[in-house]
Amino acid sequence: MKAYTYIKKGEFALVDKQKPAIIEPTDAIVHVTLGSICSSDLHIKHGSVPRAVPGITVGHEMVGVVEQLGTDVKGFKVGDRVTVNVETFCGECFYCKHGYVNNCTSPHGGWALGCRIDGGQTEYVRVPLAEQGLNRIPDSVTDEQALFVGDVLATGYWAARISEITEEDTVLIIGAGPTGICTLLSVMLKQPKRIIVCEQSEERRNFIRAHYPEVLITTPKECDKFVKANSDHGGADRVLEVAGGKDTFQLAWQCARPNAIVTIVALYDEAQTLPLPNMYGKNLTFKTGGVDGCDCEEVLQLIEQGKIDTTPLITHRFPLSRIEEAYQLFENREDGVIKVAIYNE
Ligand SMILES: [Zn+2]
Ligand SMILES: [Zn+2]
Repeated sequence: MKAYTYIKKGEFALVDKQKPAIIEPTDAIVHVTLGSICSSDLHIKHGSVPRAVPGITVGHEMVGVVEQLGTDVKGFKVGDRVTVNVETFCGECFYCKHGYVNNCTSPHGGWALGCRIDGGQTEYVRVPLAEQGLNRIPDSVTDEQALFVGDVLATGYWAARISEITEEDTVLIIGAGPTGICTLLSVMLKQPKRIIVCEQSEERRNFIRAHYPEVLITTPKECDKFVKANSDHGGADRVLEVAGGKDTFQLAWQCARPNAIVTIVALYDEAQTLPLPNMYGKNLTFKTGGVDGCDCEEVLQLIEQGKIDTTPLITHRFPLSRIEEAYQLFENREDGVIKVAIYNE
């Protein structure tokens, strides 16, 4: 089978590999029907993910069909359509039991697929701890509708959940990339009084304008003034920072009102400063982290009920054989791309 592989820093290539086999009884083999490319894949390509292992198949966003099941995997059968979670977790340790699956203490735990072990930009993938890592896709939900459940949408949903949003709130979301839009969709479910999206790219601002006309839109330059003019208490009640830009962390706390919650979803390339003297008296609560991807079943139900629809994010489609082109488009942000879907013919 063909597998898009991390060769060395700066180089990915489509190479021939053996179809994976069950190694542990908790594994499943999934036939990948649809995958996607994430900015984390680009981080691997650029050598900025030290734990990524050269030689592995990349890709951690995928849906597919169960091909084979280890003897210990309960609740699934061969032929089930499933989402695959970006995080591998045991479901049994202290962290898993409290829903903090990102910190699962299993040696397999954390971001393994498409980073430390073979991932999903291929035809078949071995999913470890499959009982936790797979979720059955309801019959009425298409592969495209379910594609982002295990990664970007899980992240947006988690971010909205931990931000404790109420119907009185003005919520500021910084960044309208794929994760920013998934965050927006999840925040909308909480029905806050106002949502303001701050985005640098005009193309992406237009995307928000076209698809979510009820959302207020601003730019990083205007953001502070705009938020103060469009909120009830001198700043946003909740700020979700999803951009990870050079100055967006500063922008996030500056736009927050006193006693606000500021949730940092973004992954920064550099250390950020927390200027405590400047923010003294503002009494902010910061929440930071990596997604605890344990809400996938709930998210799939919301998709089934028509309450979340991420299909507008799929702006381009490529067969696996042309994945190189898909990367080029995604990496250079050509042609208004938000997300690409990679399908197996
Ligand atoms: Zn990702
Ligand atoms: Zn665990």
